[in-house]
Amino acid sequence: MSIETGQHGGTHVSTLLILGASGDLTGRLLLPGLARLIGSGRATGLHLAGAGGPGYSQEKWQQRVTETCEAAMEHATEEGKAELVKIAAHTSFTELDVTKPNELANLVKTLDGPVALYFALPPAVSQKACEVLEPGQLPETTLLVMEKPFGSTQKSAQGLNRTLIRLVPEENIHRVDHFLGKGTVFNILGLRFANRLLEPLFTSEHVEKIEIFYDEELALEDRAGYYDGAGALRDMIQSHLLQILGLLTMNAPATLKERDVRDHLGSVLRATAVAGDPKKSTRRARYTAGTSKGRPVPDYAAEKGVEPALKTETLAEVTLNINNSRWAGVPFILRAGKALGTARKEAIITFRPVSHLPTGFKGTDEPTKLRIGFGPDTLSLDLDVNGPGDLYTLDHVTLAAELNSPDLLPYGEVLLGVLSGDPTLSVRGDTAEECWRIVDPILTAWADDVVGLDEYPAGGNGPAGWDTNCTSSTPTGV
Ligand code: NDP
Repeated sequence: MSIETGQHGGTHVSTLLILGASGDLTGRLLLPGLARLIGSGRATGLHLAGAGGPGYSQEKWQQRVTETCEAAMEHATEEGKAELVKIAAHTSFTELDVTKPNELANLVKTLDGPVALYFALPPAVSQKACEVLEPGQLPETTLLVMEKPFGSTQKSAQGLNRTLIRLVPEENIHRVDHFLGKGTVFNILGLRFANRLLEPLFTSEHVEKIEIFYDEELALEDRAGYYDGAGALRDMIQSHLLQILGLLTMNAPATLKERDVRDHLGSVLRATAVAGDPKKSTRRARYTAGTSKGRPVPDYAAEKGVEPALKTETLAEVTLNINNSRWAGVPFILRAGKALGTARKEAIITFRPVSHLPTGFKGTDEPTKLRIGFGPDTLSLDLDVNGPGDLYTLDHVTLAAELNSPDLLPYGEVLLGVLSGDPTLSVRGDTAEECWRIVDPILTAWADDVVGLDEYPAGGNGPAGWDTNCTSSTPTGV
């Protein structure tokens, strides 16, 4: 098989086996991401296999794959189109119960290796499937691709890591965080480390605070089965937003090779912790009935499948510190929420004022801000300039750019990494544990009701007093 790997190289996967062939993730994200990747001509000669429970069949699977490949034709190159036809024609489905000893290992033996096992299964089923696999049962070249959530506490993530490492080496374990799709990662790393204008400024001497927001307009959308047990802190902050924080704050790696990038990312997350008492440095809230995009949204507690007593938060905000010489004293505010009035997915780096502004300037006292938007990918810089009219008056202007959108879907980027055996864009085991170590004290404080559960109407801007639309909100815990 041939894969475009950039500079990384690694094991080239011959067979991608998707466990959970009939599932939601597979249909909505994985197969479309894969089809776009194959259509781009960057993955050729791959065999696609699916597996799942008795409710599914070769016919249904082949139809699912074929429809997805057909939909990807419009973006495909000529070579990619031929590959899409081939992959749909030859894909295979096997019925199996992954939690039964030997069933999965026996299936892998029949497939052309190296095989990537994609666990698109409920987390408890993935865990059980790995527990019943014996050391030595899988060829050493097998890749294990684990979906989020990877554990639910630091302890459970440690346990899961121990289970996986019995089976294959760490570099063959891909813990997926699709926010690490290459576009986002390399946009942040390139922006920070390739620009003299910015590279020296990412320190506590120059940066006043960093905020990372992931406000969604979408409400629960029938996903209570997953979301009600997770909430905004586990769903977004523990995983995706901490990875973005790591990229924004890590030291420059010597190379973009897997080990250098992931060592530096892990190192900065090891220095990250809640800013003092979670009672003062975290907030949580849940939406009540309201309207989103003109549609009525029911009270979260009344949504189908929700257990109100779980007190699941749909909006979470935490202030963190990074206890190292580069970042000591700077607040990092991470917030994620659902059913908010305005979608806002961005990181905002607020710079400190200049050490002395010549006396005589009038006008704005707005700080310089760099904003990095995640989907659509944008970049903007808020600056003070001498505006028209009175020359002594400063105006605040914004230089804004829309970045080229990547040609691959986020799961296409993830799969490109998997198929080329390059784990740079997956979360390393120790880092997955660190991310739980950071949020565990918050989960404990919230479970003990140390922090109240505020409310906000769906479609609004968050609870009164939260300043969710104001980037100059004062962090609470520092
Ligand atoms: P679904 O419930 O939609 O699908 C689960 C799949 O697992 C089904 O195909 C089911 O097959 C199969 N399955 C369950 N038990 C077994 C078993 N014992 N042996 C073989 N197959 C089994 O889940 P999702 O697709 O939503 O989620 C999958 C994973 O992806 C989860 O870890 C989730 O957290 C993660 N994820 C999901 C996202 C999403 O948008 N859906 C987004 C990001 C991550 P059958 O029903 O035919 O038995």
